[in-house]
Amino acid sequence: MGHWGAAAIAGVAAACVGLVGTGRAVVQDAAPGASAKAAVELREPDARYKADILLVVAHPDDEGAATSYLARAIDEGKRVAVVYGTRGGNGGNEVGTEQASSLAAIREIEARRANATLGITNVWFLDGKDTAGQDVLVSLANWQHGASLEQLVRLIRLTRPEVVLTFLPGTFIGEDHGDHQAAGVLATEAFDLAGDPTVFPNQVAEPLKRLEAYLEGLRPWQPKKIYYFPDADREDIFKGKGPSYSVKEISKSTKKPYWRASLDSFRLHETQAKGFADRLNKMNDAEIEKMMEADGWASDQTFVLGKSLVGGTTTDPIFTGIESGPIPFRREAFSVETPKGDVAVTLAGPWSFYGEFRAAHQLTHLPHPEPPEIALQESTTLIIPLWVRNSTRETREVTLSAELPSGWTVSSGAGKVKVGTNQTAGTRVEIALGALRDKAKGRDAAQMVTVRAEADGKSVGEVAMKVELRKKALPE
Ligand SMILES: [Zn+2]
Repeated sequence: MGHWGAAAIAGVAAACVGLVGTGRAVVQDAAPGASAKAAVELREPDARYKADILLVVAHPDDEGAATSYLARAIDEGKRVAVVYGTRGGNGGNEVGTEQASSLAAIREIEARRANATLGITNVWFLDGKDTAGQDVLVSLANWQHGASLEQLVRLIRLTRPEVVLTFLPGTFIGEDHGDHQAAGVLATEAFDLAGDPTVFPNQVAEPLKRLEAYLEGLRPWQPKKIYYFPDADREDIFKGKGPSYSVKEISKSTKKPYWRASLDSFRLHETQAKGFADRLNKMNDAEIEKMMEADGWASDQTFVLGKSLVGGTTTDPIFTGIESGPIPFRREAFSVETPKGDVAVTLAGPWSFYGEFRAAHQLTHLPHPEPPEIALQESTTLIIPLWVRNSTRETREVTLSAELPSGWTVSSGAGKVKVGTNQTAGTRVEIALGALRDKAKGRDAAQMVTVRAEADGKSVGEVAMKVELRKKALPE
């Protein structure tokens, strides 16, 4: 029991069963018979967790994609909170033997320390499983999409950000990590849901009685803007789609350029970059600056505007037009278009998902590749997922064929398929990719793959895809 007196213990026990923690008003000194009672002060959301910017990324160290801007925003008095989708258990470990869940436990701490160098301490982790691949749908499945979304909506309502920053939701030739895309998808969904009081209503209900301990007492919150940063090489189609910030400007607080704040934060991710951190430790400021210039790390930080609910232009600075306080919630109408024709074959998988996602979230202006594209490792398999729709009153036969670059072959899925009346069936054409031609460069120029579908001698669909072969790439 130590030095705690019995009275103190009793006091703690009394607090536990009292009104504390229910979010209800605390009435003080209500003397019996007092005629003019003072107004009761109602509780408000916890100001310590209010953020101006909420960064939503996938893995510990992904925050590095935005830290040079965040350092600037923090200089300007902005409050920043960060949410990670996973703890990064699937990454490598350059420091010790720990892998998987043990590595995840380490990477969570590395992320907290990296954020702390910038003064960011409000950092949360969803329970997603770090998934190496390019398919956002697989990542969302491994992240328990519904549970992750519920938690992210909760964190938006808790932190009440004005602006959400996240990865661009889309699939491109690039690193194109499915987890990075999943962070962008979830952040966009949560942006559109957190202001709706009918979404996860238990979060916005006020507990009325002592035993309603799981009603959360949050308020709906509609963030005002969402911006994306790309995870791909297609800089050509991202340019001019949002504001851009020099990372060479000198910070008022550290007297160093903003890229340096980003670098000094990043070097704490030792499991991911111990070799790099060790090299930095042996360099002076001038040498570090030279290396940064040579690596192109000191180029501008650019964002793509997702949407602004407070007006302004595409390239306005991030906080232009933002005033504190809530804005009303509005849901935009959305319906899914059915493909034309009695029988139709269309691209499925992440590509069709993103088409519908952009329409559902009023993001049809977002840059996306046409035709769809992907980068894959040489001599692996490309899978082209397809929907085959038959809206007639009889079973129909569809013939699938593929036109391929020389040396690439169909390994399965071509030929005849049958689809029942009023059905949409899924199928896939698998293509064995050839070897890389330019071994020295490590990548070939993208080549076209076309899948054609015919029914009764007439075309019922054509799917084209640009495929770039690389020495190394994440699996599809
Ligand atoms: Zn990552």
